[in-house]
Amino acid sequence: MTRQRTNKKPRIAIIGGGFAGITFLTTLYNHARKQPPLQCTLYDPSPEFSFTPLLVGAAAGSRAITDACIPFKDLAKALGFTYTQARATRLDPNTNHVTVKHPTGTITKEQHDYFILTTGAETQFYQTPGAKQHTLSLRSAKDAKNIHQALTHQKKAKQPGVIIIGAGPTGVELAGDISVFYQQNNLPTHITLISHAPTILPRFNQKIQQSTQKTLQKRNITILTNTTVTKCKKSAVTIQEGQKQEKTLTSPLLIWAGGCKPVTIPLRTQNNVTERGRYIVTPTLQLKGHQNIFAFGDNAQIEGEQPLPLLAQVAEQEGTHAAKNILRLLNNKRPKPFTFHDKGRMVSLGPKKASITINTPAGTIHFNN
Ligand SMILES: Cc1cc2nc3c(=O)[nH]c(=O)nc-3n(C[C@H](O)[C@H](O)[C@H](O)COP(=O)(O)OP(=O)(O)OC[C@H]3O[C@@H](n4cnc5c(N)ncnc54)[C@H](O)[C@@H]3O)c2cc1C
Repeated sequence: MTRQRTNKKPRIAIIGGGFAGITFLTTLYNHARKQPPLQCTLYDPSPEFSFTPLLVGAAAGSRAITDACIPFKDLAKALGFTYTQARATRLDPNTNHVTVKHPTGTITKEQHDYFILTTGAETQFYQTPGAKQHTLSLRSAKDAKNIHQALTHQKKAKQPGVIIIGAGPTGVELAGDISVFYQQNNLPTHITLISHAPTILPRFNQKIQQSTQKTLQKRNITILTNTTVTKCKKSAVTIQEGQKQEKTLTSPLLIWAGGCKPVTIPLRTQNNVTERGRYIVTPTLQLKGHQNIFAFGDNAQIEGEQPLPLLAQVAEQEGTHAAKNILRLLNNKRPKPFTFHDKGRMVSLGPKKASITINTPAGTIHFNN
C-alpha cells in the first residue's frame, strides 16, 4: 500500500524515538514560531520513550517504572507530531518511501520529504550460545519491568541471586542497585559481576574503576575479571577465566549487560554503514550522498572522525544540532558541522552512592559521594 501526498507542508519521518529522535522533535517544537509549518511523523515499534538513565533504578525497584518512560502518544500531543506505532524495515532514498510494519502485521509504504534515522542500538550477545534465550537484558522500560518482576519473585526464593554478565556502566549500576534491593528485603547478597576485560568499567578513568570496585566488594558482590561467558543455559552460565578450564556458575537470574550494537534499517544504496554497522554520516549529520536523510545517536558515526561514545548526551546534542540543520536547509541555508561537548560521566551505585567525572573548562574533576 502506498500513501499519496495530501498537503504541501514538508513531511519529516523520524524513525526511532529514543534520546536522538525525541530531542530532534523537541528542538523543532521549541523553534516552531520561527519556522514554516512541518508535518512530523514518529515511527517506533515501542509504545513509549524509555529514559535509560533511570532504567537500572526501575529494574531494581528504587524507582517506579513509570518514572523511566513517557508514552509516545503523550509526547505527540505535547510536541505536535504524529506517532505511528510501527517498525521501519526499509528505506528507498530514490522514491523517498519508508516501508513500515504495524503491530497487526500490516505493511505500508509511507512517503516523506526528510528522514531522521535514529534507531539507536540493541543488545549485542556476540553469538554466545543460549544468551538471548536464557538471560534478561536492559534497554527499555519493558525490560526493566521484566527484571523487577524476576527480582520480586526472589523475595520468596530459597536461594536468591543474580549473575550479571558485563561490567560496563549498566552492569555495574545493576550490581549496585540490586545489592540495595537485597539488603532492603533482608535477602543474602549473591551477586556475581563478570567482566571480560581486566577491570570493571573498562572505558572509565582508573580512579573511578578502583573506587567503584571497592564499593561493590564492600557490599559482598563477587567480581570476576578477565572472564568470558562462553555459554548460557537456564539459570547457569559457563565461564572461562583467562587460560583456566571452563566452569559453570548457577543462579536463578542471569542478566546480560555485555554490550550493544547499532540498529540500522536497510537502505537501497551502497557503502553507507561502517564495519561495525553504524551509518556513515557527514559532519552535518547527513547520510553521505543524501541531503534529505539525517542519522545520529547510537547508530551513526561521522566519517573520518573517532566514533563518539554511545551516550544520551551525544544523542541529545546531535538531535538538537540536526533539527537546527534541517531548519537551515528549509530556509535555503547551509547546514553546519556538529561538535560534541563532553560534560562528563556518572556511575550510580544505588540511591545514595555515585562515582562522577565532570569536565570543566579548567580540567576534569573526579569524585565519589
Ligand atoms: C540501561 C542504560 C542506561 C543508560 N544510562 C545512560 C546514562 O546515564 N547517561 C548517558 O548519557 N547514556 C546512558 N545510556 C546510553 C543512552 O541510553 C544511549 O546512548 C541513548 O539512548 C542513544 O539514543 P538513541 O536515540 O540513539 O537510541 P535509543 O535510545 O536506543 O532509541 C532508539 C529508538 O529507536 C526505536 N527503533 C529501533 N528500531 C526501529 C525501527 N526499525 N523502526 C522504528 N523505530 C525503531 C527503538 O524502539 C527506540 O525507541 C544508557 C543506556 C542503557 C541501556
